[in-house]
Amino acid sequence: MNEMQVKKSPFHRAKMTLGILALIILGACSKVEGQADSVQRPADGEPIQVVATIGMITDVVKQVGGEEVEANGLMGPGVDPHLYKASQGDIEKLDKADIIFYGGLHLEGKMTEIFEKIENRKPTVPVSKDIDPELLRSGADAGGSQYDPHIWFNVRHWISATETIRDTLVAYDPDHAETYQQNAEAYITQLEELDAEVKRQIAEIPDQDRVLVTAHDAFGYFGDAYGIEVMGLQGISTAAEYGSKDVSKLRDFLVENKIKAVFVESSIPTKSMEAVIAGAKEMGHTVKIGGELYSDSMGEPGSDADTYIKMVEHNVSTIVEALK
Ligand code: ZN
Repeated sequence: MNEMQVKKSPFHRAKMTLGILALIILGACSKVEGQADSVQRPADGEPIQVVATIGMITDVVKQVGGEEVEANGLMGPGVDPHLYKASQGDIEKLDKADIIFYGGLHLEGKMTEIFEKIENRKPTVPVSKDIDPELLRSGADAGGSQYDPHIWFNVRHWISATETIRDTLVAYDPDHAETYQQNAEAYITQLEELDAEVKRQIAEIPDQDRVLVTAHDAFGYFGDAYGIEVMGLQGISTAAEYGSKDVSKLRDFLVENKIKAVFVESSIPTKSMEAVIAGAKEMGHTVKIGGELYSDSMGEPGSDADTYIKMVEHNVSTIVEALK
């Protein structure tokens, strides 16, 4: 009898199932006890290897971790996290990492299973986890998401994400707790200034023109926090299909409300928005593209949007310039 036949025997299968069950139960227990969160840094002096998904998280990890941390981002400029599938290289990076940060709330919808598999072995932390669910927007209209995952567009929520990253680093590497706390404090001060500046700038747009039309519904938190009405051609996930009905609905909205400008996004093809603009033109209403916004990814290194703060500033000045 060769090995293949042994593996196929029902008895062996039952044993395998039991073995897998035992593993699942063990995994569940360690998760309940929170062992993964209390893993501590080995005292070898090497920087902590952190892997993050979107660029905005990678940026905060660099800000808070400083020289103690080596931050590796999986998703570069122009990459859409809703559709992103991990490559073999990514899996290897995740496997080697000491800590993993991701957005959560189903942002990285195609990576959920990978995070679930890895979270019992090492700190695998959604940076949205400490935001009060009452403050989260519902994602009822999007495929499979309970909440809107675009939390970085309310700078207050991004302060919470920064604190989550800080606390994770402190727990993993208590010897450098003071460094992480000081770095986070300095960065949060900058974020507080940014929050105030965004409010001030958006308030410069006349009331009736304060409508932000974008390719997908990434700016809901932005609209709530800074007082601008928001409308997207696609829902909160680009993974949900959109059709000619959505195009004509948005076209009618632009015509009826005499919207002057709409915005394209760096991580989404512009073709969809061009169809809406062409449709409005046929109905005698001219809409311009107000500019490109960074929604779900930052700009190229060296561009005016290669950090989280610069990305928000770029978006706000683009919006204000086009709508004012
Ligand atoms: Zn999005």
